[in-house]
Amino acid sequence: MIDVTHLHKSYGQVQALRDVTFQIAPGEIIGLLGPNGAGKTTIIKILTGYLQPDEGDVIVDGVNVLEQPHAVQSRIGYLPESAPLYPELSVQDYLLMMAELRQISPEDVLSYVSEAVYATGLHDYLTRPIGHLSKGFRQRVGLAQAILHKPRLLILDEPTVGLDPTQIVEIRSLIRRLAQRSTVLFSTHILPEVEALCDRVLMLFHGEMKLDSRLSELAQTNDALLTLDGRPPRIESALAKLDGVTAVTALAATDGRAAYRISGQPDADLCPAVYQLAARQGWPVREIRRDSQTLESVFNALAMSRPSVEEKE
Ligand code: ATP
Repeated sequence: MIDVTHLHKSYGQVQALRDVTFQIAPGEIIGLLGPNGAGKTTIIKILTGYLQPDEGDVIVDGVNVLEQPHAVQSRIGYLPESAPLYPELSVQDYLLMMAELRQISPEDVLSYVSEAVYATGLHDYLTRPIGHLSKGFRQRVGLAQAILHKPRLLILDEPTVGLDPTQIVEIRSLIRRLAQRSTVLFSTHILPEVEALCDRVLMLFHGEMKLDSRLSELAQTNDALLTLDGRPPRIESALAKLDGVTAVTALAATDGRAAYRISGQPDADLCPAVYQLAARQGWPVREIRRDSQTLESVFNALAMSRPSVEEKE
């Protein structure tokens, strides 16, 4: 559905995107995650044909965006960061106007508008001026215009930004429903949003794609975590000698306890060997478990990394 290769974009001296490559298959729901200024909006504007990259190729739904931006725009639904909504128009008049702009045929207009209105829960607000709606309902209007022409791909730029917790829950469940019939790519800097909605996450830092992973795969590591009451002598060297161990890291521990992370090859489960060694040595073990990382721990680790261009310097 989306095929992006070697995308570069600078605004003057600011290098917003550096060699970004990723693919998205039909039916996926993908979170594009990154801190402020990471380049999320820049990617989305390029995908939707509103901005030209300096280098790279972008194919959306089989169409080259750089060559045929209007063809792509007619196939996708796009909710920009701040959707232009015409506050003086009623919800109904705005959606009818958008249907005309989308060139939906006159005989289909009413059914298309009704479907978008019901999907977004706007049926009781049709005659209200958009300017009189709460921010959450204005966001629904933005989503309604994005899905009006039944696009196969929805691209949403920070769809829950500025909403209160109740509105956030509502918009998330709406996105989940919309994802049943469209591929969805949305940007956010909110980690729980990705956990709540996505199959896959793309993490962007300093304009570079630092991670592309299924959420289910992200949680798995084979590191073993060992916690003991006390610190036996030469424990680190004994652990390091175990078959398959590549690193032993002492972790901060409290109340006279000691803790270690024992890392190995990606396919090695180290817990049984650590358990047997601890039993042979009579170590005062409190806990041995396999470590699992969270989206937050991965994000924080990547946030500490520096841009590769600076690293080379
Ligand atoms: P946010 O979460 O804050 O919206 P973002 O991840 O969407 O951030 P972008 O808006 O894509 O990030 O910006 C990426 C970088 O490009 C930032 O350093 C930003 O300041 C810069 N930038 C974006 N638009 C322009 C512009 N029109 N002119 C100059 N610099 C820009």
